[in-house]
Amino acid sequence: PGKKVLIVYAHQDPKSFNGSLLKIAVEELTKQGCSVTVSDLYAMQFEPRATRNDIVGHLHNPEAFNYGVETWEAYKRGGLSKDLVEEQKKVQEADLLIFQFPLFWFSMPAILKGWMDRVLVQGFAYDLSKSYDGGLLQDKLSLFSFTTGGSKEKYAARGDIRYLLWPMQHGIMHFCGVKVLEPHICYAPMHVSEDKRKEMLTAWTQRLKTLWKEEPIDCSPEWYFK
Ligand code: FAD
Ligand code: ZN
Repeated sequence: PGKKVLIVYAHQDPKSFNGSLLKIAVEELTKQGCSVTVSDLYAMQFEPRATRNDIVGHLHNPEAFNYGVETWEAYKRGGLSKDLVEEQKKVQEADLLIFQFPLFWFSMPAILKGWMDRVLVQGFAYDLSKSYDGGLLQDKLSLFSFTTGGSKEKYAARGDIRYLLWPMQHGIMHFCGVKVLEPHICYAPMHVSEDKRKEMLTAWTQRLKTLWKEEPIDCSPEWYFK
């Protein structure tokens, strides 16, 4: 109770399976007394492109544009665009970040990748000597909750799904100092029976009930590639 949760959600349709997973998380966590904020990226028409528009006012180096340098400098002088400042405020306040999305090409949808690219700015999320366990977003938890088109059996046969979590969980979250909870994967919701879908939704509710008792994973190469 009293915990703050930010759910970053990337699906176009509230009636989708992802939409149902989102609804469950909002309801269950609110019931627990958490305060829940949702960034519904498609509904917000969130800008995924990392461009010069993200910097308000003058550029640090107008001769050659370097997005990383420019956003870092802009962050330090309070010159990031309003949409980024708003997302950073939500991240700053959150104890837990939940990412809810359908798997696109073994990764996240572009709109969510754009959120990562633009919101997790140097100086805010990490710094030169402040990354991984020293990252700037310490004392926060993250959870990747996603759906797939492929079945669990196919993933098991063709290589562990943990391989594709390395860039997202380790390369982004761990890099920024955020601890990582076990991912929550709903395999192939469109190819299973209605009963199985209901079962998957119930399992998500059940997991959320004891979420705050979970220990983060040991986010090291062994977890992914052992
Ligand atoms: P939906 O189609 O919305 O939901 C499935 C079914 O659940 C629907 O019939 C819906 O009505 C029903 N449903 C919704 N809510 C409820 C409820 N409360 N109770 C019961 N039923 C409900 N897949 C991979 O595995 N690997 C990839 O690399 C990959 N790349 C992709 C790339 C792109 C560009 C695209 C478009 C898709 C890709 N996919 C991939 C497939 C994608 O991951 C799946 O289509 C997606 O995860 C399905 O989730 P959804 O929420 O859209 O499902
Ligand atoms: Zn890691």
